[in-house]
Amino acid sequence: MNRKTSKQAFHEAQNIIPGGVNSPVRAFKSVGGTPIFISEGNGAYLSDVDGNKYVDFVQSWGPLIFGHRDESIENAVINAVKHGLSFGAPTVAETQLAQLVVDFFDSIEKVRFVSSGTEAVMSAIRLARGFTGRDDIVKFTGCYHGHSDSLLVEAGSGAATFGTPSSPGVPADFTKHTLLAEYNNIESVKKCFEGSSDIACVIIEPIAGNMGFIPADKEFLHELRKLCDENKTLLIFDEVMSGFRASINGAESLTGVTPDIVTLGKVIGGGMPVGAFGGRKEIMNMLSPDGPVYQAGTLSGNPVAMAAGFASLTKLKQNARVMAVLQTRAQRLVDGMSRVAKEQGITMQTAVRGSMFGFFFNENPVKNFKDATATDAELFAAFHAGMLDEGFYFACSLYETGFISTAITDEMIEETINAAERVFKAIKSA
Ligand SMILES: *Cc1c(COP(=O)(O)O)cnc(C)c1O
Repeated sequence: MNRKTSKQAFHEAQNIIPGGVNSPVRAFKSVGGTPIFISEGNGAYLSDVDGNKYVDFVQSWGPLIFGHRDESIENAVINAVKHGLSFGAPTVAETQLAQLVVDFFDSIEKVRFVSSGTEAVMSAIRLARGFTGRDDIVKFTGCYHGHSDSLLVEAGSGAATFGTPSSPGVPADFTKHTLLAEYNNIESVKKCFEGSSDIACVIIEPIAGNMGFIPADKEFLHELRKLCDENKTLLIFDEVMSGFRASINGAESLTGVTPDIVTLGKVIGGGMPVGAFGGRKEIMNMLSPDGPVYQAGTLSGNPVAMAAGFASLTKLKQNARVMAVLQTRAQRLVDGMSRVAKEQGITMQTAVRGSMFGFFFNENPVKNFKDATATDAELFAAFHAGMLDEGFYFACSLYETGFISTAITDEMIEETINAAERVFKAIKSA
């Protein structure tokens, strides 16, 4: 497969954009090779600047649950554009999208819109601190909550410990209030509570998608809720990725655990930049201008972005069965890939929740970040490169999640499994 034009485009971008990309994971660093430059998306497919076509299992890292150029979303955006791009004043579109979010999530009574997941989480943390009057927060090793300072804390040893900044430019003073615990390990959370009586909130991806795909155990989440209640600490579900992806009613509907604050992003904007955070009135009323916790945004609730989000969520609401259909397809994909991998002596660990799927080349079950790092990175890189040449676009990192869109048909799933079989065979005979 010829990717000359992409290579040239990447070379030119690297001269004037750091790393040639505007978000690091796009650079293909963890799989080697160079990124594909996209010319357009259509339905299930991405096309690159060399004219190659790929079935897209990345879906812009989640947002495009109806695939590329979904007609109703596209029309909603075009219609909104014709009325003006931005006003910096309220529009009915914001209330309409807010109503849908409140309807979908039992735990959300009020919601505020921002422009990214990072902003949503950053604001939710500030709100939790303002509401409780406490400073410390607990996060889990391997969970990603955007790139704000206090959340950019390195995956540690798993034992609860004070966080160290994972990026130069983040003062240790900013992260000393971030305590680390191990995913699916309640004892590690208890240790955090033993060490601090100043914990404002525990933030977790209840269905983790940023250390590979690892849904939390139900019992673990129930115990987490209990610990938070005992300590008058807020529980934040970061569902920027899993919201409207694993279930249209949130992880709370899958697990029976009710969070105090939920953060959303990705699907909620239908491909436009939208983030959101919401919760009980009592908490949300602390926000400016009703309350003292400041939070703002020039382009927050942007009318074009709201239109895309409203069209997406409306379509989800009207197609109640869609998540079950996508889940069946995702399960077929990972089962099929596991089967053809096994024939070549390769063991895969897989998981599916709704339209999200994940796989590790790992002999053992994966429950936390440490388990995830034991996966065969070299094999993943070879798999990724092989699938790309076959015309299947998977996330270019083993710490990401796969996504099925409604545009991906059962036939495409079969083709993907057949391609994976060829790729595994080639890897094993190399
Ligand atoms: C993507 C993601 C974020 C950050 O969202 P951005 O829109 O990239 O800023 C935060 N939390 C989770 C769980 C995510 O998957």
